[in-house]
Order: sequence, then C-alpha cells, then structure tokens
Amino acid sequence: VEQRDDDERPLATARVTRFDLEADVVVVGLGCAGACAAIEAAHAGADVLVLERAGGGGGTSANSGGQIYMGGGTALQRACGFEDSPEQMFRYLMASCGPGPDERLVQAFCEHSPAHFDWLVEQGVPFKASFFPDAHEPPQDDGLTYSGSEDVHPFCEIARPAPRGHCPQVVGSKGPLLMQRLLGGAQRAGARMQFGARVERLICESDGRVAGVVARGDGAARCVRARRGVVLCAGGFIFDDAMLELYAPQLRACRLRLGTEGDDGRGIRIALAAGAAALRMDAGDVTLPLVPPVALRKGVLVNRAGQRFINEDAYMGRLGEYALLRQGGQVFLIVDDAIFARPELFPVEIAAVGETFAELEAELGLPAPALHATLELYNRYAERGLDPLFHKRPAQLAPLVHPPFAALDLGVERYTYAVFTLGGLHIDARGAVLTPAGEPLPGLFAAGRTTSGIAKQGYSSGLSLGDASFFGRQAGRHAAV
Ligand SMILES: Cc1cc2nc3c(=O)[nH]c(=O)nc-3n(C[C@H](O)[C@H](O)[C@H](O)COP(=O)(O)OP(=O)(O)OC[C@H]3O[C@@H](n4cnc5c(N)ncnc54)[C@H](O)[C@@H]3O)c2cc1C
Repeated sequence: VEQRDDDERPLATARVTRFDLEADVVVVGLGCAGACAAIEAAHAGADVLVLERAGGGGGTSANSGGQIYMGGGTALQRACGFEDSPEQMFRYLMASCGPGPDERLVQAFCEHSPAHFDWLVEQGVPFKASFFPDAHEPPQDDGLTYSGSEDVHPFCEIARPAPRGHCPQVVGSKGPLLMQRLLGGAQRAGARMQFGARVERLICESDGRVAGVVARGDGAARCVRARRGVVLCAGGFIFDDAMLELYAPQLRACRLRLGTEGDDGRGIRIALAAGAAALRMDAGDVTLPLVPPVALRKGVLVNRAGQRFINEDAYMGRLGEYALLRQGGQVFLIVDDAIFARPELFPVEIAAVGETFAELEAELGLPAPALHATLELYNRYAERGLDPLFHKRPAQLAPLVHPPFAALDLGVERYTYAVFTLGGLHIDARGAVLTPAGEPLPGLFAAGRTTSGIAKQGYSSGLSLGDASFFGRQAGRHAAV
C-alpha cells in the first residue's frame, strides 16, 4: 500500500493561530448529499459554508443516472396506480440490503420516504406520472420503474412488490437535472460555496469535539471554523487504489469504476483519524449490465462448473454481486437462436457455439454432462413455466430449444462490470458519525457514499442517491442545532 504524503490526522484547535473562515455548519463536498445537507442546515437557520474540491458542484451525482429510491406510497407511486406502504418497503429493504442492514436507518428512510419525495418536488425536481415497465433505467422521461428485485424471487414472497425507482423527468441521464435543481436549492437557501477547496483534515478540540476543517485551495491551507458542526459528504473511495487494496480488493477486478476523482476516500480517512468508526468497507454495488435487451433474461446464467446460481430475472446489481462475489466473476449466459442478442450497453465475446448442448459443453471445456444436465433440467421445467430451483418468473421462462446455442462470456475479465463502493462511516439516523463504541462523535455528521448507508451490500438502483439525499437532509438539520 502506497504511503500517503500528507497528514490526515486531526489538527488540535490549540495549534490554530487564526481561523480564516467561519460558519455555523461546514459542509464538505457538493454532490447530492452535500446539496441536501446545505439546504436543510440553511433552512434550520444556520449560516452554511460548503467547501468543494472541484471547480463547481455536482460530484458523481451529476454524472449519474439520477434514479432515486423512494416509496411507501409516494405521490408518484399513487399517480401511477401502485399501492405501497412504509412497512412493505421496510420488509423489502431489510431482506435485500444485507447482510446486516441497519434497522434504524432503514426504518427512518421508509417512514419518511413519501414526505422526502414531496421535498424533492419542492426543490424543483420534476417527475412525470408514467410507469416504465422494463426494469432498467428508462431511456425516455418516464417517472417510475422497478429498480431492484422487488417483483422477483425471493423478495416478491417477502414483501408486496412496488416500483420505487423515481426518475427525474428528462430524456436520457437524469443526474444533471437532479443536481441542477438541488444546487439551485442550496443557493436559494443562502448557503455560501467555495470551489477549489479540498478538505484535508479535521480540526478537533482537546475533548475530541470536531470544531472545523483544514481546506487547501490555490496552494494555501486555510483553517475553517464550524461553530455547530461539520457534515462530510465527500463521496466514496472507488478511485483510491490504496483503499480498495486495503478494504475491498475484490472490487478492483471490475472494469468500469463509477465515480469522479473526488471519490478518493479522503472524507472517510480524516474521520477515521479523528476517532470515527467505519462499516462494511468491503461492500460495493457491482452491476452486471445484462439488459437491455430484456430478452436476455430468458437466457441461463451458469458458473464455470456449468451450474446455475441465481434467477436470471433478478436486478442487475444482484446478478453482478452474485457473479463477482460468489462465483469469482466467471460466468456465462447460455442462449439459443430464438433469444440470441448482444447486450446493448457493452461489447461481449462469444465463448462457444454449438448445435447441441454437448457441443457447447465441450467447447467450454466442461466435463460431460455438467452443462448438458443443467440445461436439460432447466428446459424440462421451463416448458411448463416452472423453475423449481431458482424461481425465475414464468414470463421470463422459455426452454432453450432452437439451435445453434451460444455461451456469452460474462466473465469479469472480459465483460464490463460497473462498480462503486458502499462502505463508509458509521452513522445514526440523524446522520451523526459514530465512534467504535457507538457514541456520536461530537460535531461530526456525514451522508452519502462517505457513509455506510441503506445498502450494506445488497443494492437496488437509486439507493445511493436515495440515502445521500435523505440522510444528507438529516445530517444538515441536526448539524445546525
Ligand atoms: C454513470 C453513473 C450512474 C449512476 N446512476 C445512479 C442512479 O441512477 N441512482 C443512484 O442512486 N446512484 C447512481 N450512481 C451512483 C451515485 O451517483 C453516487 O453513488 C452518488 O452520486 C453519491 O453521492 P454523494 O453525494 O455521496 O457523492 P458525490 O455526488 O460524488 O459528491 C461528493 C462531492 O465531494 C467532493 N469532494 C470529495 N472529496 C472532497 C474533499 N476532500 N474536500 C472537498 N470536497 C470533496 C467531490 O468533488 C464531489 O463533488 C451512478 C453513478 C454513475 C457514475
């Protein structure tokens, strides 16, 4: 692990000769979490200063798909004719966001989700009352879609399914519009903003209370006092090789890292150095972008032993997690001529082609009848619309009977898996950063990918902007007290 050349330990207030800047609440980072924290802290009456290392606000949030996980009966869900409740949303998230989701965070997130949707609308984020049925990011401006595995096994048996992916109304990527509206909201709320200001360490009182930050800009380090609190919203660490090597080496295999250079983990490290605790630092959202086209869900995913390991109609983040973390990233999708297609988002190699299952098996170098047996068993039940092993939905079940058959190589070394980190600081439902003893670290709050949020590992699309916006608001409000 490379040595870092700069000091990340907290600076004692006794060593500060003068504070160059002051505010009640200092927000570090102006992505989705930071903008929401700034808005709520300002609305709570605090004088707010945002420090952002880039030349403008937006962060990874502005480069994102912009889909936000909300539910429990939002106005949009109702307008699209879907019934949902905080209880059903809670059941789904507790079952899917593990292992070990934090019940208190999930509870608060679900209970206040309908009101959180209304708040985003108040900030000027538009949503169109139309439902997109294909369960991936809507290419048009539809407002609502299934963004996780709510309507597939095993979750459809655990909680009543409801679509919870809320998409701002714009054609294509929705992140830029979302952030344009949130940055406008922060400006209107009166938050001051300094760009080109990279926070390098915290400033702490002798009793450990966080009293400010040291920020570098234009080559000079400046001490910034936070009279009430510091809110760290500085993104995750997918762009820091040293942290990945230390905490989440398995994620390095993925080709496409989702983030910006700001996702270097600095916000997490400076808090750890001041006595904070981090959780689940190995966790990541790993997406295997199989669809579009949705017909590929009718294929059969197998591992290097020629065996199935999941229902292929699960959310792509669940497929990626299972493929990378449980199958070593060595998987193939078996298709027949009737459903043959190439994934639209990334190029794929064809590992084998055969007129029979036996030929395909031999070309993949698998011992007979490993793959043959898997596909015969699959076909035998698929003919009757059944999948007794993995419970794929009947609509996605079709026996593979039209030769030639092909194996698409979805191995992590040859196909594009997209990844970002989910591990980070331990927070409570107010966004307060906790110590290893579970006590709040006085004066320090955090939200977004600087924290371990709703998804402790199992991810559904929209949860990152969902918890960044929701806990950003909580952190801003409580820091302002
Ligand atoms: C292509 C793509 C599509 C995605 N689609 C979705 C989606 O549809 N839904 C979803 O929920 N998630 C999506 N994600 C993931 C999501 O965008 C991020 O996880 C989320 O934006 C994180 O928000 P944040 O506020 O925590 O961090 P960011 O938005 O990254 O904001 C952090 C800010 O902190 C700044 N910063 C960092 N370090 C410092 C420092 N030391 N001092 C000062 N400033 C600092 C950064 O420059 C940045 O502006 C997507 C990501 C990508 C790349």
